[in-house]
Amino acid sequence: MNDIKKSDIDIACVGLVKSLFGNWYKEDENFRGTPERISKMYREMILPKEEINRIVEKQFTKTFPSKSNSVIVAPGIKAFSVCPHHLLPIEYDIVIGYQPNLRVVGASKLARVAVTTAKQAILQEDYVLELSEYIKQYLNCKGHGIVVIGYHGCMRCRGIQTQGSFCVSELAGSFKDNPKIRDEFYKLIDISGGMK
Ligand SMILES: [Zn+2]
Repeated sequence: MNDIKKSDIDIACVGLVKSLFGNWYKEDENFRGTPERISKMYREMILPKEEINRIVEKQFTKTFPSKSNSVIVAPGIKAFSVCPHHLLPIEYDIVIGYQPNLRVVGASKLARVAVTTAKQAILQEDYVLELSEYIKQYLNCKGHGIVVIGYHGCMRCRGIQTQGSFCVSELAGSFKDNPKIRDEFYKLIDISGGMK
């Protein structure tokens, strides 16, 4: 994703509002500033990849020594993304678990990385993979698991208009190879009410 130039998107949003509502939108107080708000909204919801990399690195740089060999689960993470096909919002319920390898990271950091990585126009499947790559790269843990349920605006408010959702998961290391660790992960999701 290239950096979004403010001036370009501002001009495009004026064009969008004009083509939808004609010039009279300027006379309606409710539309005053609407193109600028749309532009600001997308620049808030879609960050340049370099900025995402920078924030993730900052969040994951600080880890702490620990002897723990447990499955650690960060439940109830909420994030918003944008679908690349319609540029409509996707709401995510996320659980991330990992088995540390001598170092642990704060649960809030996992949430922050999940929220930041979602700020792209990206398929849910690819979002989960990117999140998994970041965890692999920075946490150097024995294994990790990610479960993401996505509620897609483009399925809910247009097209088939269902309340349908997608669930995508990714398992790596001990979470993939060791059934006991994997079961522990899913059990902890249940106990913590993690997908809500
Ligand atoms: Zn879509």
